[in-house]
Order: sequence, then structure tokens, then C-alpha cells
Amino acid sequence: MPRTRVSRLRRLQVHDRPRLDDLLDSARVGHIGLVVDGHPLVIPTEVARDGDELLVHGSTGSRWMRNVADAPPVCVSVTAFDAIIVARSAFESSFRYRSATIFGRFERLEGERKLRGLEILVENALPGRLAEVRPHLTAELERTMVLSLPIEEWSLKVSDGWPNDGAEDVAGAAWAGVVPVGQSFGDPIAAPDLRDGVPLPRSVMALLSPGEPITVDEGERPGRSTSST
Ligand SMILES: Cc1cc2nc3c(=O)[nH]c(=O)nc-3n(C[C@H](O)[C@H](O)[C@H](O)COP(=O)(O)OP(=O)(O)OC[C@H]3O[C@@H](n4cnc5c(N)ncnc54)[C@H](O)[C@@H]3O)c2cc1C
Repeated sequence: MPRTRVSRLRRLQVHDRPRLDDLLDSARVGHIGLVVDGHPLVIPTEVARDGDELLVHGSTGSRWMRNVADAPPVCVSVTAFDAIIVARSAFESSFRYRSATIFGRFERLEGERKLRGLEILVENALPGRLAEVRPHLTAELERTMVLSLPIEEWSLKVSDGWPNDGAEDVAGAAWAGVVPVGQSFGDPIAAPDLRDGVPLPRSVMALLSPGEPITVDEGERPGRSTSST
């Protein structure tokens, strides 16, 4: 039996790749599972999709990153918690969710692929930010690792239904339904050392008015060239 086959509630397993991509593109955070010195370890980190690859980045001094850069088998889990399903019984109560599991081995990116990976990760964290920040310093790039996992062996499970109460419970007095979980950004809080008069960047303003696209004027883009200063 393939290890990506869901055992329980198999009807919730989804094989559509676009639905996996939707989850990976919206989640921002995943959990990397690996085995270090014979012990399981699960580490939360930013994940970003680039086509058929899942990217992560971090310090060259990071133990788990150095470990997965050597291409041992890993398992990545990415989850969106969408709602509480309030059933009439505790037994039937559950969550709406979308969750993915990806198996594979990471590859360390270098050169142009590393720069592109970093751009994607920066934009994934805060869309529009790349055009606003200075180019990477050479020293910063040297201290950063970018790793890529092929999105080839994966499973996706989607719970988007309703309470599944039996007839006796439906006939009873208990309420049942779904309570969606929202995700929104709060009011930005300026850094304690922010100089007076520095306005909010467009990338942050766009978080506060979702739906309005950020247009990046190529003339404003600081560029990808690195600086050693
Ligand atoms: C939402 C989120 C996003 C993150 N994004 C990134 C990212 O993009 N890049 C990045 O490098 N790091 C990210 N981190 C931090 C990441 O989880 C690690 O802490 C970091 O990579 C440093 O790992 P390390 O080399 O110290 O871990 P290791 O040295 O491998 O860890 C040693 C031990 O430290 C403990 N540990 C390490 N990290 C954590 C943790 N997060 N929580 C609790 N215990 C921990 C564990 O007990 C572990 O066994 C993110 C964390 C969160 C929660």
C-alpha cells in the first residue's frame, strides 16, 4: 500500500494537485519531520511553493537545516485549520481543515536558483516586500541556506463537511453547525527604534486591505544584485 494513502475517512482524500497548491500557497508555515541521531524531530518553518518544489530557508548554522541539506528522507506537513464543526454529540464534533503531507529529500540550492528561492520566500512571507528592501548583502547570502523539496509524493486530506449526527441526535435539542476560523492581520505596531516620519510601506498597507492587488513598478525594484557593504 502506498504510504500516501489515507486510511481513515478515505473519502476526504483529494488527489487534485491544484488543491494541494492552493493550500501550500496560502499556508506560509509547515512542519518538517526528520530523524536526527535516531530520534524523530519536527520543526516549524516558513514554506513557499515554486512550481513543483517546496522551498525552506534558514541559517547555515541551523542544525536541522544542515541535517536535511544532506538529503535524508523527510516528511513535511502543512495544515490549514478552517472551522470548528459543532456536532450534537462530542463524538461527531470535529474540525474543517486542509492538510498535506509531502515525502521526499531536500536539495540545497546554489547560485541563481538560490537567489530565486530567496525572492520567492521573501514574497511569500510579505507580498510586495521584495521591491521595498535593499538587495541582500553578500555576507547575508553566505549565512543563508535555501533548500528545495520536489512535490512528487504527497497526500491531501480535506475536511469541509457538516456535522454527521445520527437521527436521534438530530431530533434532539442540541445546536449543530460550523464556526469558521478567520485569519486577518492586526494594526501594525512600529518598531521601538523606528525613526519619526517613516510611512507604512505599501506591502504592509496591502495586508490591511486584502483583495487590492499590489502592483510593483519594475522601476522601483531595488534589484537582485548583492552588495558587500
Ligand atoms: C512560524 C515559524 C516560522 C519559522 N520560520 C523559520 C524560517 O523560515 N527559517 C528558519 O531557519 N527558522 C524558522 N523558524 C524557526 C525554526 O523553527 C527553528 O527554531 C530555527 O530554524 C532554528 O533551528 P535550530 O537549528 O536552532 O534547531 P536545532 O538545533 O535542530 O534544534 C535543537 C532543538 O531546539 C529545539 N527547537 C528548535 N526550534 C524550535 C522551535 N521553533 N520551537 C521549539 N523548539 C525548538 C528543539 O527541542 C530541537 O530539538 C520558524 C519558527 C516558527 C514557529
